[in-house]
Amino acid sequence: MDEQNDCIFCKIVQAAIPAQKIFEDDDVIAFNDINPVAPMHFLIIPKIHVASLMACEEPHQQLLGKMLLLAPALAKKQGCTDGFRTIINTGTVGGQEVYHLHIHVIGSKNRLPAMIHKSQ
Ligand code: 5GP
Ligand code: ZN
Repeated sequence: MDEQNDCIFCKIVQAAIPAQKIFEDDDVIAFNDINPVAPMHFLIIPKIHVASLMACEEPHQQLLGKMLLLAPALAKKQGCTDGFRTIINTGTVGGQEVYHLHIHVIGSKNRLPAMIHKSQ
């Protein structure tokens, strides 16, 4: 498995630091965001280290599809049956803070605001 020593999400994959995991298989892990912006806020990440969506290429196609399909499956399990928001921040312009590819899956009983801002 590819890994990067200084990557916090690789450490979560290796269980070197704890996370509230909600799903895991051979390829991906989903866990609750440490700083949730809504009642449901989890991240879906690949187990291999891929820095961002910008670093993805054709060989990652199946993995990306798997990650995207997990979003509705896990959101429904968490009770968000009426919808949710997916966000993939990419690069400095996209506001990416952790350079290990991740999909944010964010949901609430009520309609989410048009834009979600991280608290500082
Ligand atoms: P980005 O801005 O890179 O798209 O978002 C990174 C996300 O990772 C943030 O929402 C942040 O709260 C979350 N995060 C950063 N470090 C940790 C951690 O150690 N554990 C968990 N569960 N989430 C983290
Ligand atoms: Zn990593």
